[in-house]
Amino acid sequence: MAVKDRLAPHIDARRLTESLSALVRLRSVTGEEDAAQEWMAKTLAELGGDVDVWRVDPADLKARPGYPGARVDSPRLNVVANFPGPGGPTLVLNGHIDTVTPGDEQGWTHAPFAADVVGDRLYGRGATDMKGGLVAILGAVGAVRAAGIRLQGSVQVQSVIGEEDGGVGAFAALERGHTGDAVIICEPTQLAVIPAHAGVTIFRITVPGRAAHGCVRAEGVSALERFLPIHSALRALEEERNRTVRHPLYQGMALPWPLSIGMVHAGTWPAIVPERLVAEGRVGVGLGETVEDVRRQLEAAVEGAAQADGFLRDHPPTVEWVGGVWEPSRPSPDHPMVRMLQRVAADVTGTPARVCGAPYGSDLRLFTNMFGIPGVLFGPGDIRLAHFTDEYVSLAEVERAALILAAAVCEYCGVR
Ligand SMILES: [Zn+2]
Repeated sequence: MAVKDRLAPHIDARRLTESLSALVRLRSVTGEEDAAQEWMAKTLAELGGDVDVWRVDPADLKARPGYPGARVDSPRLNVVANFPGPGGPTLVLNGHIDTVTPGDEQGWTHAPFAADVVGDRLYGRGATDMKGGLVAILGAVGAVRAAGIRLQGSVQVQSVIGEEDGGVGAFAALERGHTGDAVIICEPTQLAVIPAHAGVTIFRITVPGRAAHGCVRAEGVSALERFLPIHSALRALEEERNRTVRHPLYQGMALPWPLSIGMVHAGTWPAIVPERLVAEGRVGVGLGETVEDVRRQLEAAVEGAAQADGFLRDHPPTVEWVGGVWEPSRPSPDHPMVRMLQRVAADVTGTPARVCGAPYGSDLRLFTNMFGIPGVLFGPGDIRLAHFTDEYVSLAEVERAALILAAAVCEYCGVR
């Protein structure tokens, strides 16, 4: 009997839904991961893993080469579980436990931590990004065990903190010696196999103005209005970069390296001309580019806009680089593990698995670039629903992901 058919009866849909509900209810916005991590540690121990739980203090790692940076610097729990085989390769299955904030909870139809199930959808912050992926990993490990399959190689499950903030958790796990021969990170890919991701760097632009009473606004200089030509320059830069920086894995993607402003703060009072504006955002880094290249381009665009503006020429805006840095990953699209996962995914779903690049950063680059561990992103959920109100994941897709991962583990590690 094919290994997939031995595993399929042990993918327990009800248990997967219960696990995902429990995990979504444990709020784990970056910096608040402990309760969810304790749940992961307990669950992995029940599955028979040798569990390592330790508190990561970003301050201890700051000086290490390759440190990815972090805004949130409180110490939090990281979890790794090893399922050792007698000999053979080690496959790492990685997921991040942290989520972005739910934002304005009024905007949600389904409360972000209620884990409402409607039909095939489970709603909640983190359902797609990426508690659905973590639960698929648990389902895969559980199915291999329940089917009585004994692996030759080893499986290592990593549940890491701080991915949304740069990747301090994956960095800490790798630095602690939790490595393997290949990695699958179960980010939401809608079951596409993604052997590469773009880089990201986070900027803060501070634009000066001059305060005045709103009733004599012409005597002041609005920092908001001075920001508008800068914003246009950034849009033009984005357009040019997405037209000229190309990569075969990103063919047909309209905006592989987006530049997006996520936060704008200006002014202190409705009747005062704002004397300062602070805008923060992210800019994508293309495959083959360096973070430094892209930073220089953005700084030049801001400076160019300032030079063309009478006020800003004498009161230049500043650009700072803050928070996490994601280098683009070093892709290995022809690695046997990538082809194996494609084959297994196609076998389970009945359609060929899509192979493409991702426009977002992830922990994958820490594995590929720093430790030479080849890997892919592969998991349930649609990235377009991540970081969004009414985030949800398809429960059927979580089940399919669990079966594919279980079969991939057996293929990669070998069955005794
Ligand atoms: Zn994610």
